[in-house]
Amino acid sequence: SPPNSTSGDSHGSAATPHIALFPSAGMGHLVPFTRLAVALSTGHSCDVSLVTALPTVSSAESVHIAALFAAFPALQRLDLCLAALEDASAEFFRGADPFYVRYEALRRATPLLLAPLLAGASALVADIALASVAIPVARELRVPCYVFFTASATMLSFKAYFPTYLDAHGAGVSAIGDVDVPGVYRIPSSSVPQALHDPDNIFTGQFVANGRALAEADGLLVNAFDAMEPEAVAALRGGSVVAGLPPVYAVGPLMPLNLRETEEAAKEQGNNYMAWLDAQPPRSVVYVSFGSRKALAKDQIRELAAGLEACGHRFLWVVKGAVVDRDDAGELVDLLGDGFLRRVEGRGVVTKSWVEQGEVLRHPAVGLFVSHCGWNSVTEAAASGVPVLAWPRFADQRVNARVVARSGLGTWVERWSWEGEEEAVVGAEEIAGQVVAAMGDEAVAEKVASVREAAARAVADGGTSHRSLAEFVRRCQGGT
Ligand code: UDP
Ligand code: UDP
Repeated sequence: SPPNSTSGDSHGSAATPHIALFPSAGMGHLVPFTRLAVALSTGHSCDVSLVTALPTVSSAESVHIAALFAAFPALQRLDLCLAALEDASAEFFRGADPFYVRYEALRRATPLLLAPLLAGASALVADIALASVAIPVARELRVPCYVFFTASATMLSFKAYFPTYLDAHGAGVSAIGDVDVPGVYRIPSSSVPQALHDPDNIFTGQFVANGRALAEADGLLVNAFDAMEPEAVAALRGGSVVAGLPPVYAVGPLMPLNLRETEEAAKEQGNNYMAWLDAQPPRSVVYVSFGSRKALAKDQIRELAAGLEACGHRFLWVVKGAVVDRDDAGELVDLLGDGFLRRVEGRGVVTKSWVEQGEVLRHPAVGLFVSHCGWNSVTEAAASGVPVLAWPRFADQRVNARVVARSGLGTWVERWSWEGEEEAVVGAEEIAGQVVAAMGDEAVAEKVASVREAAARAVADGGTSHRSLAEFVRRCQGGT
């Protein structure tokens, strides 16, 4: 029987808290929520339910959800059917980022549809993107509401401070300058998420509303750990970012789950990258991925291909040709040319499919991660001790790249462009040069090993993140 079956009819009792988790859209949000769900359920014996908004935006999300509930039957699934609202908002926000449109649809649905899902819950953990709409629903029901911030602690400090910055610079400010987060450090204007420079972007309205709502939450969870972002964690807790924030629980890096059938799917497609990795020497492979929700421009993909070919190292490259995976019907040869694929055969593996990145990064053959620095990717690199060559593209990724460079997890070539900048394409030679330098960098390798040790200490019994999560569970039990 499932480990939590003894508490079967005692949802919400003082002994076993029942925690409802409410993620928003995209793998970057779903993945850390599912890790949190399992940490609470198997690690801390809580009853856990997960709200799943359907249909999902990407097929990666629906595969992940199915695999999660198959592997962890103790988790309770709460489906939230969004089809009608989604259609209406898609029409309204034609052309906008589909994941941001989904945030908006979820935000509009929350006041109508969330309450029934909280029956018997002793606490709600809402995604940051839903904070300002979920907190009032929970409050009305007298259910404590925590907010899970799925990005870095540094980004959380920026988000918490940003409304104050706007208030000080006048309403409707459209030129966002450098943002000096009190107690943390200065985030240059060029690192501020692109959307925030446009007050009319749907993301901007959400971001500011959620930032203002943080103080209303009962606590903030973040998938980060004290030793990697000491300034941000201390400043958030010490009240220097903004006054009045609730307790901050830094509980990361949350551990990747081994969800098997994606591997099965990969094998079916004849794309057995794990077997290929097994055959490569230690630390010899450059792993290249820009995350789950963005595609590089076609000419940038070509330069990157030429750069990987020129660098001379082995590589595993996950290529995305579209923002939403369902739309990504193109063939690799069309993107890259068949000459390239033939020339690198044996030395490089290129795939358009999903790979189990947590496992890839733990593989001893991997020696470098060329990453967009989505925060989940950064936490996975830290936990497995793989140096990062940061190439942020969008949103919070430059803030995260700064964390990578400061913490010693890797290097960031700050002049490399990101979305929306002129001179956008980074050339093949430049890419090859940086990859070669990073692969040979012993000083970075040493620092990365110490980041990995600090991450392991944080989540071990008695570590800062382990204690934070236990403390959060105690509060959900109604303790103090
Ligand atoms: N991921 C994966 N396989 C892929 C692409 C992504 O396992 O082929 C995972 C990755 O390990 C991470 C998440 O999807 O856990 C993506 O989140 P991240 O914050 O790194 O970036 P985003 O996709 O949100 O930009
Ligand atoms: N985010 C946020 N407020 C929101 C929506 C998102 O702070 O209202 C965070 C989100 O967790 C992410 C960052 O801001 O870390 C950028 O969000 P985006 O959705 O663009 O990135 P992704 O979801 O791909 O990680």
